[in-house]
Amino acid sequence: MCIPQDNPPTLYVVVPCYNEEEVLPETAHRLSRKMAMLMQEHRISPASRVLFANDGSRDQTWAIIRQLHDDPEYNGLFTGISLAHNRGHQNVLFAGLMEARNRGCDITISMDADLQDDIDAMDAMISAYEEGADIVFGVRDNRETDTRFKRGTAHAFYRLMQRMGTETVPDSADYRLMDARSLDALAQYGESNLFLRGIVASLGFSTAKVYYKRGERFAGTSKYPLSKMLSFAMDGITSFSVTPLRIVAGSGALFVIVSLLMFVYALVSLALGSTVGGWTSLLISIWFVGGAIMLSLGIVGEYVGRIYIESKHRPRYIVADKLD
Ligand code: UDP
Ligand code: MG
Repeated sequence: MCIPQDNPPTLYVVVPCYNEEEVLPETAHRLSRKMAMLMQEHRISPASRVLFANDGSRDQTWAIIRQLHDDPEYNGLFTGISLAHNRGHQNVLFAGLMEARNRGCDITISMDADLQDDIDAMDAMISAYEEGADIVFGVRDNRETDTRFKRGTAHAFYRLMQRMGTETVPDSADYRLMDARSLDALAQYGESNLFLRGIVASLGFSTAKVYYKRGERFAGTSKYPLSKMLSFAMDGITSFSVTPLRIVAGSGALFVIVSLLMFVYALVSLALGSTVGGWTSLLISIWFVGGAIMLSLGIVGEYVGRIYIESKHRPRYIVADKLD
């Protein structure tokens, strides 16, 4: 499989880290072995690096990254940037990718710090790049290591996204290869409400998929509690789709039609002499319509809120520190 190249590409592996002190040393160790092997096989250039993007961690994460950077044993393989605040996985990943782009890499591979993504899939990703792909998605071929809850919600999420018209590659997380061309395209996306999976899937270019087995988190706990997962799903839908607004408008129209029918019914029963009796049905419909209005307003409000946030054009993140 290995095609030794005269002029191998410079690879930056971008690893977002939020409170990952427990796994970082092991991640660094395994990545350094992988990088050394790839360099030996002349598949990546000796200028290739691992870039840790620290997402405002509150533990020793940044200190460990600095140590790795200074460690003579690793010979400058590790570098990093550190955000001033915790801005979330998508933003810190974007920050890391843009930093790699600015440093003149040919390709990036983004992966989680917790070693759930199979490092050995990198070889196949680079092969796909050599064969002409600009973007290579890592797609997990099983979800056995996930809890049933996570598996169920993830599948429901992908189905919902598809219905709503957001492009995603099902079962691919943020383990993927992107070349300089696709990074240039990504850099043009200025939104604060960043949903990388959707953006990258909609970029176009030539893409490929590499299947891999996703393992368990090596150590530590998930940094994605349910609340973050829900807001992530919300971002994914609202940043790509106005379908919820259309549903609101559609149900509004439906209510109007129903009320017209009721009106006709009431008129007919009045003409027939039977008075409209019982306030139960009345009460039910008032509550129902009230609830529907509030729900609709909530959905509209969600979009308005996002417009407000986008309209401020605030920076997505602030880099506090850089190693180079
Ligand atoms: N992460 C981050 N900022 C956050 C939450 C997570 O940079 O606010 C990073 C985390 O360090 C890890 C990756 O995103 O490298 C995925 O997080 P995690 O493994 O906890 O998510 P899960 O695999 O449980 O979905
Ligand atoms: Mg994980």
